[in-house]
Amino acid sequence: MEDEDLDQLLDEVEQRFCRPETAPGQPGSLKPEQPMSIVDDIDALLEEFLEEDSDDSPQRKTQPFPKGTPGEKKPSSQSGGRKCCPVFLGGSSVTSGVGTATSKRSCDQLRCTSCDFRVLTFDDCEWDSSCDYLFLRNNMPDRQKLRAKLKKRRGLRAFACQCSWFSTSEPTDLRDQPQLRWVCGKHQD
Ligand SMILES: [Zn+2]
Ligand SMILES: [Zn+2]
Repeated sequence: MEDEDLDQLLDEVEQRFCRPETAPGQPGSLKPEQPMSIVDDIDALLEEFLEEDSDDSPQRKTQPFPKGTPGEKKPSSQSGGRKCCPVFLGGSSVTSGVGTATSKRSCDQLRCTSCDFRVLTFDDCEWDSSCDYLFLRNNMPDRQKLRAKLKKRRGLRAFACQCSWFSTSEPTDLRDQPQLRWVCGKHQD
């Protein structure tokens, strides 16, 4: 339909502008010379036509989508987010964020692969020496209850999941703490 309309329009344009060229009285002229103004007029007319048409004509797909081969799905971990590499645990004065070898930031998106809990952090706190596995087991992830075994200690940051706990002031590479089964769970910034 669209093409027919366009053809019709072109015919109309041709008739309107080109008829004088084929009119009697100019028998020798085989090459019609079109002044630029007429070409401009045709362009303007066509533009008008296309603009009008685009309003109520739905987008049509000329080619069917090629079917993707199964098993070629991209891993979902590729869709946004960054992971710390290496992963650092830092004190309260250490900026939280994505850690790299040159930017030792404290990871605030930690997850424990052993108990599958999110690792909670407490700024300016240190775990009391009486903190143990049973205490975490009973009180995770209630921050208020966990404070029972946290001591105020400026500059330190306390970390805990349901099975492990750790306090530090300096950026600490997680690889140096093999007892902690924590991984960076990806940052969304
Ligand atoms: Zn991280
Ligand atoms: Zn854990």
